[in-house]
Amino acid sequence: MEQNVRISPQEKERLLSHFETQIMQVLNWLATFSPDEEGGITRLLYTEGWLEAQQALAQKMAGCGLKTEFDHVGNLFGKLLGEDLDAPSIITGSHIDTVVQGGMYDGAYGIAAGLLALDYLQQQFGKPKRTLEIVSLCEEEGSRFPMAYWGSGSIVGKRNFEQIVHLQDSDEVFFTDAMQLCGFGEGMGRDSRRSDIGAFIEVHIEQGAVLEEEGIAIGVVDTIAGQRRLKFEVIGESNHAGTTPMHMRRDALEGVSMMIQALRREAVRIGEPLVATVGRLLVLPNVPNVVPGKAIFTVDARHADGQVLDRFCRWVMQEFSSIADERQLAIQGTEWFREEPVPMHGKLKAYMDDVCGKMSISSKRMVSGAGHDAQMFEHICPTAMLFVPSRRGISHSPEEYTEPRDLAVGVLVLTELLYRLGYEGEEL
Ligand SMILES: [Zn+2]
Repeated sequence: MEQNVRISPQEKERLLSHFETQIMQVLNWLATFSPDEEGGITRLLYTEGWLEAQQALAQKMAGCGLKTEFDHVGNLFGKLLGEDLDAPSIITGSHIDTVVQGGMYDGAYGIAAGLLALDYLQQQFGKPKRTLEIVSLCEEEGSRFPMAYWGSGSIVGKRNFEQIVHLQDSDEVFFTDAMQLCGFGEGMGRDSRRSDIGAFIEVHIEQGAVLEEEGIAIGVVDTIAGQRRLKFEVIGESNHAGTTPMHMRRDALEGVSMMIQALRREAVRIGEPLVATVGRLLVLPNVPNVVPGKAIFTVDARHADGQVLDRFCRWVMQEFSSIADERQLAIQGTEWFREEPVPMHGKLKAYMDDVCGKMSISSKRMVSGAGHDAQMFEHICPTAMLFVPSRRGISHSPEEYTEPRDLAVGVLVLTELLYRLGYEGEEL
């Protein structure tokens, strides 16, 4: 793995300004598909704007000399064919869909970065040894239908048509109908499943403020955090707010407020990368002059180590029970969602560290608290993720922003990594 970077300091500067201009052009162009009247971009799966964006991207890829192809769910691939067509492809890319009123970087950046990297490599070095591909994944966010990672999940075999047959969006449009209107579906185009992928690399904005705060250019993702989601129902007694003395109350909300504080204290005590959130709370009867008799709330906990997460959740269950007991409340807790942490590929991470080191680009290993398509690909091939800073960590909002120079640095690191894997035949 001991390698020299072929890009000289002068060339690095020239390339960075080139990528800086180019990446903004592509991102601004992509943002013209599905702008939201209220601000930001709303590009939901299988909508007109989504289809236009995918088709326009296909044209752009073809214009760069890539061989384009859609699969039957609408993932778009642009291939820079290699000399050895039997060697598994190296793929980079991200998702084209957004949340409602999302920003112009989440997902789109990974696609634009791949496009620039492949375009540059082809112009500079011609045909690679093994095929390099850019993918514009059809869906990641789960914003229109209750189904996330539809694009990447279909490629790796974790998603299939049976799972979506009954799904509808908020306007009661069936998933299948929306898909067919765009020209995709079972029997319409190439099967999404792939078994010829040698590696997947996703470039993404951080969606957190760690890199910006520490003044670091590149985050090499160590692990995508695991998640547990718990739901609690706390039952006390509804009663008159005026006539029930304080010592006679069984106030469900009061108990919950103590639980939330205990949760925060323990999460802070355990420390990073643990995060725990109460994001939903329903109070019943939710009336100004009645002591709350019931409260329902959720806990979302994330960490890079599944065992730490399980220990934390056991603690939460016990602690909440004892708080409930003290306040004479009944409590019931269940875990309704769990996702194990996904470590990224060791050698790929080491290559990224090495590329950054040799190019004098500051970098650090970090945990991704958010889920990404990369966690799907990890099931079938060596996978890695690279983050660039997000201003104030804001994402899923029209306020999402990353400095053009920071975006360019991400493209540069990706380009070098793809060169090593595609042209030098670096083994994984
Ligand atoms: Zn994303």
